[in-house]
Order: sequence, then C-alpha cells, then structure tokens
Amino acid sequence: MNRNWAGNITYAAAEIARPSTVEEVRGLVGYGRHVRALGTRHSFNDLADSPGGTLVSLAEMPPVVEVDTASATARVAAGLTYADVAPVLDAHGFALPAMASLPHISVGGAVATASHGSGVRNGALSSSVAELELVTAGGDLVRIRKGDDDFAGAVVGLGALGVVTHVVLDLVPSFDVRQRVHEVLPLDVLDDHFAELMSCAYSVCLFTDWRAPLLTQVWVQERVDEPAALDVPWFTAAPASGPRHPVDGMPTGSCTTQGGVPGRWFERLPHFRADQPPSSSGDELQSEYMIAAVDAVAALHALDGVRDLIRPVLQVCEVRTAAADGFWLSPCGGRATASIHFTWTADLAAVLPVVALVEDRLAPFAARPHWAKTFTATPDAVAALYDRLPDFCDLVRRYDPVGKFGNAFTDRHLGAHV
Ligand SMILES: Cc1cc2nc3c(=O)[nH]c(=O)nc-3n(C[C@H](O)[C@H](O)[C@H](O)COP(=O)(O)OP(=O)(O)OC[C@H]3O[C@@H](n4cnc5c(N)ncnc54)[C@H](O)[C@@H]3O)c2cc1C
Repeated sequence: MNRNWAGNITYAAAEIARPSTVEEVRGLVGYGRHVRALGTRHSFNDLADSPGGTLVSLAEMPPVVEVDTASATARVAAGLTYADVAPVLDAHGFALPAMASLPHISVGGAVATASHGSGVRNGALSSSVAELELVTAGGDLVRIRKGDDDFAGAVVGLGALGVVTHVVLDLVPSFDVRQRVHEVLPLDVLDDHFAELMSCAYSVCLFTDWRAPLLTQVWVQERVDEPAALDVPWFTAAPASGPRHPVDGMPTGSCTTQGGVPGRWFERLPHFRADQPPSSSGDELQSEYMIAAVDAVAALHALDGVRDLIRPVLQVCEVRTAAADGFWLSPCGGRATASIHFTWTADLAAVLPVVALVEDRLAPFAARPHWAKTFTATPDAVAALYDRLPDFCDLVRRYDPVGKFGNAFTDRHLGAHV
C-alpha cells in the first residue's frame, strides 16, 4: 500500500523500509540518497513523500514506553500511535494533557506537524516533548533536549531534519473526563461569549455544517475533578438525546463515549475510538487554519459570509483552541490559538477552489495552515506567517546539508530559503 490514509496521495517513493533497530535506521539514513520518516500516513498532502527515495516506517521498532515516575516523563518509540502509548502511561498513573481527534496517529508524525486537540490551557501535542532522539543525514544519532539551542526549531520539524526514533514526553497525573454533546447554539452567541465558552471546561470543540449561522454541536469535555462552568443563561444549546457523530447522520459507533459517562482521559479526549476507523473512514479531505483566539469570532463571521459556497463540499467544520507554544514552525507559535478545521468531501477538484476561498476570507487573520492538511496558500504567503522560518532553514542546512530529507513539499515551502 503506497497511499496515504485518505487515498488522495500516492507516494512516489521507491520503497518503504521497516527497520527494527536504531542501528538499522542509522544505516538506512546514512547510506540512502533520499529518505524520509513515514508515520501512520494520516497527512493529506505530499509532506510525507520521498520521491524516488526510501520512506522509513518505524512501525516495526520495539514498542518502547519507558515511564520514569520520578521525573514524570516517558521515553516513547516515535513510531507508536497514541492508542499504543496512552494506556501504558495511564497504567503508571500518568496522562498527556491533550489528544488529537483520533488516537490512530503516530507520535512522531503528530509531533513533527504540531497536531493538536483542544483546550485553552493545552498546547499542541508537540508541547509535551522534552527530548528528541534524531537520526540526521549522516546517520548520526543526536539528542536534542528542552533548553538546547536547537530544541525550539527541531520539535516541529516536518520530517525535514531527520528521522526521530524516540521522544521523551512530559507527563501529567492521570485524570478522568466526562464528555457531553449539546446541540444548536446560534453563532451570534459567540460574539460576546466565545472566550467564556471555550474556557468553560477542560476541552471544548464546536461544530457547524454551515447550513445556517449556528453551531450544530458543542462537545464539552470536563475533567471529573473540575466540572464545567456551563450554568449560564446564554448557553441555550440542548443536551443531545443520544450519541452523536460530528458529521450529521454518520454512524456513532466510531465515537468516544458521550452522555457524561466518566472515563479515562485517553478514552474521552479524542473524538474517535482507537478500535474503530476514525472520522468518515477516509472518504474525505481535511484543511485547518490556526489564528489568534481573539480573532476567532471575526473569522467565523467572515466564513459565515460565504457559507453557501462552503456548504456543498463540506462534511463538517470544527473550532478548537490551543495554548501558545514557542516552536518555530508551530501554527500555534506565539499566540493563544483558535483552530478552524474543515472536513471536506473527497472531491479534490471541487474542494480546492473552496479551500482557496476560505484562505482568502481568513487571510486578514494571518491564518497558518495545518502543515499536514490540504491548503493552497503560496509558499511566500506561508513563509510570511513564520518569523523563524529562516532560522529553521539554517537548521535544515546543518542537519541535512545534502537535502536527503527534502521533497516537493519542502522544496516549495523551504526551498527558496534553504
Ligand atoms: C481522520 C483524521 C483526523 C485528524 N485529526 C487531527 C486533529 O485532531 N488534530 C490535528 O492537529 N491533526 C489531525 N489530523 C492530522 C494528523 O494529525 C497529521 O496528519 C499527522 O501528521 C499524522 O501523523 P502521521 O503519523 O500519520 O504522519 P504522516 O502523515 O505519516 O507524516 C506526516 C509528517 O510527519 C513526519 N514524520 C512522521 N514520523 C516521523 C518521525 N518519526 N520522525 C520525523 N518525522 C516524522 C513525516 O516525514 C511527514 O513529514 C487528522 C488526520 C486524520 C486523517
């Protein structure tokens, strides 16, 4: 199988290698001409490809999850998925602060692209990284730790600096979560209450299908030890009468338990269950834009102005939040963030003009596209959103002087600068 999860990208790599030791990874990278790490293939563009070269999947590496209780950290094999890692952390009494909508993605792939969940206090998944073990172009294994000069550049590395074999993650004490879905809240309510709504619970996600100026669903995930503060007159959304899928009419069996039933953090924070195919099972494309949280209401009104054009190719749109981080290429870098996500139909030709329209509407908000999703913004427009892009390109030149990890995506987005 040489396609991504959604099937919209056919990798042009000559082979996929599946090393089972770090030494093998070092050999593959050191001797290869064009090489790139491949995670679980959940990205929607050509970011993960290595045309004519070798994709290195770490799925057959030993499933290391070494929890250090004293330092509240875990050393984790980067090819493992969050579904693999989370129950082990939990069994040791620990948790990660956030989870993406699906636990099926690899730790290495999620960290490299600053994938995120929701919650005003929760950073993107990369924010939990304390150390990277990275095989660089010469086949050397280097450790980059929090506090090192290169750390803030290397963590969200887009696979352009090498193959991360292991990461050390900072942990928090394990916790329980209740998830409740509420339905139908007029968009205008956000005008005065967006910040309040998004911070009323540990993690809050808003959904709309843009058929009308309203939120179809509000998913509220409260820590059991920190009940949601939702008893306010403006919150008029009604509790859902049963389980809901974010996309109206989709079967709910793939969704995590709702209805306020308490459960462990890793079984409530993702939208989708680890033992089921996520989302709409791959029959989709996705785009997402990160903006400053203070601009979220204006941005949503800008999109509302074109909802008749968005709606025909949309499955669902989701709004989440993330805390600011300091990673050079993180779309959440330097600003408390609101993310506006689109699950589109799988019809790329019909979707692309609407993606361009959405980007046009969001341009006044310096919207940073999710690196791993579908976007049309020009390399110059994207580069203008990242002050530290030139510094990242210096890192690429140092760690990969021969361009071994480069591909068409990095040529487009880093090429002019490397
Ligand atoms: C159904 C669905 C739901 C999603 N939900 C969310 C969500 O809630 N939030 C969110 O932010 N994103 C979400 N995404 C996007 C997803 O998180 C990203 O595409 C992420 O990169 C997927 O990880 P992966 O392991 O599949 O990476 P891949 O697609 O395999 O690779 C992505 C990039 O990471 C690099 N990479 C992978 N492993 C390593 C490694 N070990 N070392 C160095 N670089 C590496 C690759 O080279 C490539 O550049 C979703 C995607 C899907 C399909």
